Amino acid sequence: MEIRKTAVIGAGTMGNGIAHVCALHGLDVVLVDLDGAALERATATISANMERQVKKGTLDADGRDAALARIRTSTSIVGGVEGAGLVVEAAPERAEIKYQIFRELDAAADPGAILASNTSSISITEIAARTGRPDRVIGMHFMNPVPVMQLVEVIRGLATSDETTQAVMGLSTALGKTPVEVNDFPGFVPNRVLMPMINEAIFALMEGVAEPVAIDTVMKLGMNHPMGPLALADLIGLDTCLNILEVLHRELGDDRYRPCPLLRKYVAAGWLGRKSGRGFHLYER
Ligand code: NAD
Repeated sequence: MEIRKTAVIGAGTMGNGIAHVCALHGLDVVLVDLDGAALERATATISANMERQVKKGTLDADGRDAALARIRTSTSIVGGVEGAGLVVEAAPERAEIKYQIFRELDAAADPGAILASNTSSISITEIAARTGRPDRVIGMHFMNPVPVMQLVEVIRGLATSDETTQAVMGLSTALGKTPVEVNDFPGFVPNRVLMPMINEAIFALMEGVAEPVAIDTVMKLGMNHPMGPLALADLIGLDTCLNILEVLHRELGDDRYRPCPLLRKYVAAGWLGRKSGRGFHLYER
């Protein structure tokens, strides 16, 4: 199964990175978002990130120009997914949004196309059940920032076929990533392990154990983590962290996943982390 063209649904933090990596590895990409301004921000981010690669000497100017020329944008799923062998959905982490998008994708995408979700926690089996092609629905979980991070977690839903899994494992390798296959279970591996740590760091802040910089410094210097849990939450997006914790809490039914009230408060205030300029730390925009 050869994939030459991809569509990426959602042009936010993850969507622009997925489009960046696909275009750099020779795939034609259509980046789709409901919001035209998000598409403009995404193309500006991709250009700036590729420019950084040119300055670092890991990409030449011709390669950058060719990759940028492979990316188109669209505000419509119907026009955007035509001819794509793979669609990667990277819309917000809300089940009802993803279910609706997958219904639309199933109707609009080529019958043989693979429909992948970049979801961090929502069941692939349940997403697949909204389509008439559950054997060709799979989780393709890139990490943030996508151009830098090595891992793609490949999540098999109950009905995902071997052929679909092999195609996505092969494509991930062709994109320069290391794919790891896991089964469909709430939070899969990364967020089931990571989110309780982030949530606990927020409880520590709320309970006055230490200031944000101190909490992050303890975890960096004491545990050898490359960045502290609060800075990582800001990078992921606090709304995304809250959505993931809510899925884990609901689906696994265990109070150890209950979202910290301070996280809810920050999200309610619009303090979403890097993408809004303020989270547990402040960012220049
Ligand atoms: P984001 O909020 O940065 O971007 C989401 C984009 O989707 C926005 O531009 C929004 O306009 C667009 N959108 C909303 N509804 C849409 C629709 N119906 N059709 C098309 N576009 C639509 O979100 P993100 O952080 O990029 O997360 C996207 C997905 O990736 C989520 O499932 C998240 O859990 C997952 N993920 C996020 C991270 C991370 O660190 N942020 C890491 C791994 C996986």
